[in-house]
Amino acid sequence: MIDFLALLRQAQSAEMRQGTSSQLNWWWLDDGILQFQPQCASETTVVISAGIHGNETAPIELLAQLCLDLLQGQLELKVNLLCILGNPYAIRAGVRYIENDMNRMFCGAYHDLEDSVEVRRAAELEQVVSKFYLSYPETQRFHFDLHTAIRRSYLETFALLPYQVQAYDTKLLELIDAAELDALVYHNAIGATFTQYTSLNFQAASVTLELGKAKPFGQNNLFEFLAIDSILRNLVAAKNNPPRKKIQIRTFKVVDSILKFSEDFKLNLADDAANFSVFHLGEVIATQVNSDNQVLDYVAHLDKVFILFPNNKVKLGLRAGLVLEEITA
Ligand SMILES: [Zn+2]
Repeated sequence: MIDFLALLRQAQSAEMRQGTSSQLNWWWLDDGILQFQPQCASETTVVISAGIHGNETAPIELLAQLCLDLLQGQLELKVNLLCILGNPYAIRAGVRYIENDMNRMFCGAYHDLEDSVEVRRAAELEQVVSKFYLSYPETQRFHFDLHTAIRRSYLETFALLPYQVQAYDTKLLELIDAAELDALVYHNAIGATFTQYTSLNFQAASVTLELGKAKPFGQNNLFEFLAIDSILRNLVAAKNNPPRKKIQIRTFKVVDSILKFSEDFKLNLADDAANFSVFHLGEVIATQVNSDNQVLDYVAHLDKVFILFPNNKVKLGLRAGLVLEEITA
């Protein structure tokens, strides 16, 4: 029995690298990378990733358990499936990242960074995912990248859809709705996230899911993650989902990114301010001084905007927050 999370946490390789049962074949490809194939050919090819940020433990535990249930025959497999624990070094250290945030280095962005464990891992993940998708041509591709936020959120669970030119997949939108998430956010520009990579290069129906607040291993109440857990299990087993029970999902689009280009950059928010904090027209959202010593304020330019992922501490040149507009019908 392969427990890829236990192996990863002990920094061990699997003794058995592949196996077979009446239902499936599996391959342990590397630290935290497990591939499954059903015995009957499938029209659907799915990547599920967690732990791109190492301290976001609940989705890591959820994915590890899903894999164990597949291996033990507790969960049926009807799709081609690749399960990834993204950043083994950061997972072992219990931190978000070691050198650089991995979810800002896909789509080849790692080429611009100095060599590090994360640069090498991002390159490896791009290769493994590419090989996996291309080995199942003519199938429908999905990618779910699971996260938990590092701060409170007025809307606790939400989905982020990467920018893409192709239409957003109807089945993916149905799954997001059925997952009882509170909000859905459409990106307005190409980023360097893992889901951007799979959407852009393989036309996968890709989504980044923020599933609540990060806690240490063993302290998660996995009950809070039941809805998303059952949606992923239903996808893997090709089963239908029950209808949504919560109120209608709220929908937002990104209208701007706030970039940090000076060390004195300061958001007009408490350090622990929640995601989806609100600013009204004309209110100052952030200040910084440019190289000519001019104070440049970032001001809300719509009646009401919402700030996502506010973070004073990002490195220079990176985004310190996203500005959203609500588009719920
Ligand atoms: Zn994350």
